[in-house]
Amino acid sequence: MTAHIRPDLDFIPAYVPGRSHPGAVKLASNETTIGPLPAASKAIAEAVELANRYPDNQSGELRAALAEFLGVEPANIAVGCGSVALCQELVQITCADPADEVLYAWRSFEAYPIITQVGNATAVTVPLTDEVHDLDALAAAITDRTRLVFVCNPNNPTGTAVGRAELERFLDRVPGGVLVALDEAYYEYLRMTGDHPDGVELARNRPNVVVLRTFSKAYGLAGLRVGYAVGAPEVIEALLKVHIPFSVSRVAQAAAIASLEARPELLDRTETVIAERERMRTALLAAGYRVPVSESNFLWITLGAATIDFAEASAAAGVIIRPFAGEGVRVTAGDPHENDLFLNFASDPETVARFARGA
Ligand SMILES: *Cc1c(COP(=O)(O)O)cnc(C)c1O
Repeated sequence: MTAHIRPDLDFIPAYVPGRSHPGAVKLASNETTIGPLPAASKAIAEAVELANRYPDNQSGELRAALAEFLGVEPANIAVGCGSVALCQELVQITCADPADEVLYAWRSFEAYPIITQVGNATAVTVPLTDEVHDLDALAAAITDRTRLVFVCNPNNPTGTAVGRAELERFLDRVPGGVLVALDEAYYEYLRMTGDHPDGVELARNRPNVVVLRTFSKAYGLAGLRVGYAVGAPEVIEALLKVHIPFSVSRVAQAAAIASLEARPELLDRTETVIAERERMRTALLAAGYRVPVSESNFLWITLGAATIDFAEASAAAGVIIRPFAGEGVRVTAGDPHENDLFLNFASDPETVARFARGA
């Protein structure tokens, strides 16, 4: 007889690995294309020598380094096995009853519905307006059962961002007992100068706001799994309680510290990515696609019912992108030659005739 498995897990789609396309360019996962810096590789190699020892469960050295960088205390920082683990831990520290609500915009980060379901809580979603967060609608959807609100800024997969003033107005409307998680996985790609939304600043005097950032994107360590949360000591302490022990490896901690030390060099790279992103958006707009302004390292193309056909045609042309059936595709800004391959496909007259006009 098969073991009894929670029946509600049937509502979570089983993981289906993407079709492999040997030799294809992958612009599907918002990764950086350049490998670790020599300093990070050296730290990784040194940490491997101690692989027989457990890592520091508190990530003390990394938290101290992050605290100094951000101008907060180590007690304001929790480290997780990728910031997606911290997303899950936030549900665990706020929701205890199946009627407890986790609120977020949709479409947004694909992990939110999954971790909400796994956490045995109720998901409440509010549609984006023209691919942008509708913070008034989000505030209006808060009930006395809302425990946690995710605001993904810039938003994955649409790339759009909301500014500081708008976020402050939203946070002012949220009751103090509701935890707001500002998911800033793409923070390093934001260039909103006048109205720059820095979650860490917004959270400084708001104990119900926690900020999530990661080493997976601009810092280029997606394969090592390390992210962090910045918030009030009470929230951080609770996160440490539900943390899977030793889930942030010694190698990940060492690489993160080395990458933080080398951040000027890493953050310089974001300028190149942003230039590519803008070049791609200009070309796509010129071809007739609908592409919202992006503040991240990827672009969203609205394609509606043609989404899957477009993604398959792109794969056949040698570029894997990320489709969201019925809505649109997300395309990462990669190396110039990779982006060119995608642009050649997207702006080919045949592709344009099939997908761009009237999208
Ligand atoms: C990539 C991403 C993350 C986190 O990724 P990790 O690799 O788990 O740190 C979190 N939120 C969003 C919106 C992302 O796109």
